[in-house]
Amino acid sequence: MKAPRGTFDILPDRIGRWRRLETVVRGLCARYGYEEIRTPSFEETSLFKRAVGDTTDIVEKQMFTFPTGGETEEEFLTLRPEITAPVIRAMIEHNLLKQRGFWKLFYIGPAFRKERPQKGRFRQFHQFGIEAVGSADPLLDAETIFLFADILRGLGIATFEVRLGTIGCRECRKPFRDAVRDAAKSDEARLCANCRNRLDRNVLRIFDCKEERCREIASGLPKIREFLCRPCRDHDEALKAALGDRVPVRTDDTLVRGLDYYTRTVYEFTSPDLGAQDALGGGGRYDNLVRELGWSEDVPAIGFAAGIERILLAMDAAAPKEDAAARMDFYGVAVKPDQRETVFGIVDGLRRQGLSGTMDFEGRSLKAQMRSANKLGARFAVIVGEDESRRQTVRLKDLRSKDDSSREQEVKIDELAQKLGA
Ligand code: AMP
Repeated sequence: MKAPRGTFDILPDRIGRWRRLETVVRGLCARYGYEEIRTPSFEETSLFKRAVGDTTDIVEKQMFTFPTGGETEEEFLTLRPEITAPVIRAMIEHNLLKQRGFWKLFYIGPAFRKERPQKGRFRQFHQFGIEAVGSADPLLDAETIFLFADILRGLGIATFEVRLGTIGCRECRKPFRDAVRDAAKSDEARLCANCRNRLDRNVLRIFDCKEERCREIASGLPKIREFLCRPCRDHDEALKAALGDRVPVRTDDTLVRGLDYYTRTVYEFTSPDLGAQDALGGGGRYDNLVRELGWSEDVPAIGFAAGIERILLAMDAAAPKEDAAARMDFYGVAVKPDQRETVFGIVDGLRRQGLSGTMDFEGRSLKAQMRSANKLGARFAVIVGEDESRRQTVRLKDLRSKDDSSREQEVKIDELAQKLGA
């Protein structure tokens, strides 16, 4: 049997990278004042229809939706294709905004989209992301971009770019949408069936279409910048001033992003090392979503979602070799089967003093035990032979030291934990 198409197992030889990424994300989110939130892997289907948008690719084609047995819409569930909507749903459900007007939250977890699998694109993938809810301050937009950049740099990814755009607000987007529709209609015959269909439903999706001809048409359509209202323009300028040159930013006025809920600031982090699927993550403001999902008033907010698999690919490109940090403190080795019980006692004692390690459970030879110690990344081999057993000592072998003279020493069992750094 195989894992389902578009999914994968994370085996122990790769887990170090995943954990390192999660540690850096958690550390930097804490440094920036973000608190963790966890929500279910599935939600009522209507949440995503309402938040992400009925005419988006995600909702039209990519959701794993299943019935619960009943017939009405509320009785359909969907594996979460993104995590912003669930976080906002949870904030509303638990009245968080009544407790505090401003929240900074982060999450790490799986998301699911029914896509054609390829490099960097899966059906179960993993995201980390943040949501800063309760402020329209452009300095907050800048802070989210700094945090994303710091995480990438913290992971050793130095080459990335931020594509930064704005898509205006409800006010300025309406005349923009009308202008785009008028212009696109004159080229209607050349548009793909999907975009023709979207002309009246959600014309801005044309900017998102991957078809060559639609991209060509899209490049000639009116640009949002010509339609921005004064407050949106001020917001964009204040953000750019706050960003300064701390991150490599490229302004891109055709950036729309695949979800409907964005307002004003939108951005995408890309890597030159990733080929076709070059987006490490994206984000933006969503000043209308909280109300849209049922809160009594508009609450301005901004967030980003980053793709963990893509970031791992960029990490691999930046530093192909796994760092050689020891994965456990010790490996207990019995010279002869007679000493296995003694080794077991020593191993147990060391663990109780906080050290990590294991021993052989397959009755293997001394040589094979030493091979295991190295393979498992143990820092020290704790070797027990007949003589040592009698003297209440062990031979301690430093598996990392290159210097032969300091490599091996006899150590009293009582002093072993201290020698191993407990
Ligand atoms: P989105 O909300 O669609 O912009 O997704 C945010 C980030 O998640 C993207 O920039 C990708 O890095 C990642 N991502 C989205 N879909 C997939 C997928 N099917 N497989 C792997 N990563 C994905």
